Amino acid sequence: MTGVHSLLPDGLLTGAASGAEDLSRYLDGGGYGPLPAPDRLLGLIDAAGLRGRGGAGFPAAVKLRSVRDAPGPPVVVANGEEGEPGSVKDRWLLRHRPHVVLDGLRLAAAVTGAARGWVYLSDGPAEQAVRQALAEWPHDLRVDVVRTEPTYVAGEETAAVRRIDGGPALPTAKPPRPFESGVGGAPTLVANVETLARIALIHSRPDSAAAVAGAHLVTLSGGADSAVALVEAPAGTHLKVLADLCGHGTAAAVLLGGLFGGLYGEGWTDLPLDHDGLIAAGGALGCGALHFLSARDCPVAAATEAVAYLAAQSARQCGVCVSGTRALAGTLESVGCGEAGHEAVEKLHRWARQLPGRGACGLLDAAARTVGTLLAHFPDRVDAHRRTVCPDCDGDVPEDGRRFTVPVP
Ligand code: SF4
Repeated sequence: MTGVHSLLPDGLLTGAASGAEDLSRYLDGGGYGPLPAPDRLLGLIDAAGLRGRGGAGFPAAVKLRSVRDAPGPPVVVANGEEGEPGSVKDRWLLRHRPHVVLDGLRLAAAVTGAARGWVYLSDGPAEQAVRQALAEWPHDLRVDVVRTEPTYVAGEETAAVRRIDGGPALPTAKPPRPFESGVGGAPTLVANVETLARIALIHSRPDSAAAVAGAHLVTLSGGADSAVALVEAPAGTHLKVLADLCGHGTAAAVLLGGLFGGLYGEGWTDLPLDHDGLIAAGGALGCGALHFLSARDCPVAAATEAVAYLAAQSARQCGVCVSGTRALAGTLESVGCGEAGHEAVEKLHRWARQLPGRGACGLLDAAARTVGTLLAHFPDRVDAHRRTVCPDCDGDVPEDGRRFTVPVP
């Protein structure tokens, strides 16, 4: 199965899927309702348990409250720059449903008290759809669009702030976090566009708030034909259900969260689509992108390609990231080519434990998690690569991450 689908009875975000939804269609669907009392909406978001959809899964209500309570007039940013090559949900949302994102931005501004907003993105068709929606937007909040070059780290929240302020789209060290000092030094809410869209739906469907908050937009890819499906699924859906939908039910492994959540082998079918369940299993949901590997896809080659891609995408600001990703990629490649001894595998184990949390953004964590989960789930395949030529990958591993890069359906 390819294209856009929903496993929810009334197709929340993927319901209106053909062309960009214009203002009249959005209003007909109940959008842009009267502004609520800010505390009431914040309470609804909190009670529904909405978590951010950019990757970290931070509680949305906590983030909104932090910006609202910080000293100084706040601003809000809709972050549509999805750096994960295997994710398309944010670009799809902006291209097809710009008004639901803008409605969420308007509501986030109301909750935090912001009088200024930005939409931050890199996708040309998405920019066109957002500008068209803003041209017919019936609200006072001033919203500007800032377009950046797409890179793995450009969507990180401090990179978004820096780029909107006219600098490069590169992360900065934290603290300060954007809620303390963001765009122009103001307390800034940087919220993923799916998070904002879910805030708009919680406002328009308060009786279904928990179902809205729990659902996820998931990008599914993999296999020889690289078919891509965008699916909206309820919280807790087993990954096997999602894999069956797109013909990957017999996959041998899955890469979780784009390149952020690690590689999972035996037992992946029982994993649930939710942040805490995947973290408990040693992975991470991240942006919700899942890339399936068939029995003929070598997991060592896939991990090597992922780490090489991440090393190439390092923004080269943190010494530990530059040296760490390069060492992980180089050592993994030598293991994959059968040129490494046992001590190389020992080093990979050590780095996978020591490196997470030491960069300014999540790129180094992603590389370390990919290596750590490969070693944990496929020790025999790693060991076999040190002794014989792998019949599946033949030791030939591209470094450009091409297999993970998917088009918007
Ligand atoms: S961890 Fe790496 S990618 Fe992230 S800011 Fe530091 S150097 Fe850049």
